[in-house]
Amino acid sequence: MEKRAELYAGKAKSVFGTEDPDLLVLEFRDDTSAFDGKKRQQLARKGQVNNRFNAFVMDRLAAAGVPTHFERLLGDRESLVKRLDMLPLECVVRNYAAGSLCRRYGVEEGLELVPPTFEFFLKSDALGDPMVNEYHIRSLGWAEPWQVERMKELTFRINEILPPLFAAADLLLVDYKLEFGLFRGELMLGDEVTPDGCRVWDRRTREKLDKDRFRQDLGRVVESYELVGNRLGIHFD
Ligand code: ADP
Ligand code: UDP
Repeated sequence: MEKRAELYAGKAKSVFGTEDPDLLVLEFRDDTSAFDGKKRQQLARKGQVNNRFNAFVMDRLAAAGVPTHFERLLGDRESLVKRLDMLPLECVVRNYAAGSLCRRYGVEEGLELVPPTFEFFLKSDALGDPMVNEYHIRSLGWAEPWQVERMKELTFRINEILPPLFAAADLLLVDYKLEFGLFRGELMLGDEVTPDGCRVWDRRTREKLDKDRFRQDLGRVVESYELVGNRLGIHFD
C-alpha cells in the first residue's frame, strides 16, 4: 500500500493518505505527551511497541465482533486503517478509581468501581479536553443520539473483553480512553488502544505500568509497556 501525503501530525501519531481513498496509514511515533501536550518527550522504541500492542488489541476486539478501523500491520511503526470521520469525543471507561476521577470526586485511588463507569470528554487540547454530558453533545452537535448510544454500547462491550484478557496476565485494566468514528455510516472503533491511553497496574503489587510512569516521572516507561505486552503474549522485536 503506497503511502501518500501526510494529512495530520498529532501528538503521538501521524496520519497519511494512501492510493485508496478509504484507507489511511497511521504512523506511531516515539513522541510522548501528557497534560494536553504541555509535557513532551521522545521515548525510544515507543512507536513500534505501541504499533504492535495496538494491532494485538484491535485483532482481539475484531475477533470478538467489535467493528474497528484496523486492517493490518504495515511495518514496525505503521498500520493500515480505514479512514474514519472521527467524532470529536473521547470515551473513558473506568474499572478502578484513578486520575481525574479521584481529583474530581476526592475518592481514593484504586477503589473498585461497581459497575464500571463511563465519561465523555470533548477532544480539544485548547480547552483541556473538558468532560461533557450527553445533553452538551446533542445541543452542540458533536454526535447524534444514536451515535452516543452506540459509543456507550461498544465501549461496554469492549470492557467485557479487555479486562479479562488483562486479568489472565495478572494485570488490572484500571481505565482507558477510546475514540470512535464513522465509516460509510457505521460507527467503529478508531485510533489506538495502548498503554498511552490506558491505566494498567500489576494485579498483585499495583505497580503502574502505563503512561502514568511518564506523567509522574517514574522512569522505565517503554519497558513497562513492553512488560504488559509480553504478559499478554505480544512479542516485540
Ligand atoms: P492527537 O490528535 O490527540 O494529538 P494522535 O497523535 O494520536 O492524537 O493523532 C492521531 C489522530 O488520528 C487523532 O486525532 C485521531 O483522532 C485520528 N485518527 C485515529 N484513527 C483514525 C482513523 N481511522 N481515521 C481518521 N482519523 C483517525
Ligand atoms: N486519557 C487519554 N487521553 C486523554 C485523556 C485521558 O488517553 O486525552 C486516558 C488516560 O490515559 C487514562 C484515562 O483516559 O487511562 C482516564 O484519564 P483521566 O480522565 O483520569 O485523566 P488524567 O488523570 O490523565 O488527567
